[in-house]
Amino acid sequence: MNLETFVQALPKAELHLHLEGAVNAQTFLKLARKNGTTLPSFAEVEELYRYENLVDFLQVYDLVAKSVVDADDFHLITYEALAHVANAGGRYAEFFFSPQVHQDAGVAYETMFAGILKAMDDAEHDFGLVSRVIPALNRELSIERGFEFLDLVLPFRSDKVIGIGLDYDEEPFPPAPFKAVYDKAKRAGMRLTAHAGEGGPAANVRDALDLLGAERIDHGYRVMEDPDLVARCIADDIAFTVCPSSTVILTRWRDLAAGDHPIRAMLDAGLKLVIDTDDPPMLQTDLAKEYRLLAEAMSLDRRTLAQLALNSLDAAWLDESLKREWRAAWAIEVDRLLAAEADA
Ligand SMILES: [Zn+2]
Repeated sequence: MNLETFVQALPKAELHLHLEGAVNAQTFLKLARKNGTTLPSFAEVEELYRYENLVDFLQVYDLVAKSVVDADDFHLITYEALAHVANAGGRYAEFFFSPQVHQDAGVAYETMFAGILKAMDDAEHDFGLVSRVIPALNRELSIERGFEFLDLVLPFRSDKVIGIGLDYDEEPFPPAPFKAVYDKAKRAGMRLTAHAGEGGPAANVRDALDLLGAERIDHGYRVMEDPDLVARCIADDIAFTVCPSSTVILTRWRDLAAGDHPIRAMLDAGLKLVIDTDDPPMLQTDLAKEYRLLAEAMSLDRRTLAQLALNSLDAAWLDESLKREWRAAWAIEVDRLLAAEADA
């Protein structure tokens, strides 16, 4: 079995995907035309999906987000994003979305959730992909906006709207000020995660854990700058959702094969990693491709890839009984794949 077939067949969960970053260029073009979004040039829509860095990327991300207006638009992008996960052999997805950018464009929360939740049901019905959504705060906005976000999101809390995230540009906007917002979300029963240690220092990972109460960390690469924190994350079994192509395109770690790439260092240190896509079409990738790129660049063996796939389920926020059931089924599948490999 070649690597491509193996990673496609591995049962995998996607835990770090941004809905608005999962809009393919053709759909973006279609929605922009329908809703009158002003683009630099319609002819160059594929060109728009090229960036120098995260700040550059976020401008395009906001433009895509502003092209999504009515419940049908939200349904379309969610359904397509989930189909993309399933096509790459994903069995389960927890995805972020950015309600505040749509709110600022005049879209009601009811409209966003109507389209998204219907698409989640349709994806589960049509191709068996179970999913959960994690509304994420834009850290560049005020704390007051954070509380307002909670007032609007919490009424939608359910077994499908399970937690909150924190994203956008981390370097100038550390996690600590969001402590009170996270405390309130936790009291309301929300699960908690945060982007930290991507652009910002290891201290942001520590603050996301200690102050925000984050149960897992999105990216977290710069945790490697603090060996004590690394040891503590291993002891506490903290999962890091890492995104290989995203590091190559949006961070300063441009070479996955480099000996000092943080994902390599995190793996070697024994941290619990989950491989994810971040923004698949905007980064020209999918879930299986991320596993393959990492395997090729870092010469990972099949057993390591299988372990990473099982990590994705371990770190998921499914309820525990369902997770145990899936874990047993996935382990059997993974063992069969590894055995087929050994026989070949
Ligand atoms: Zn992200």
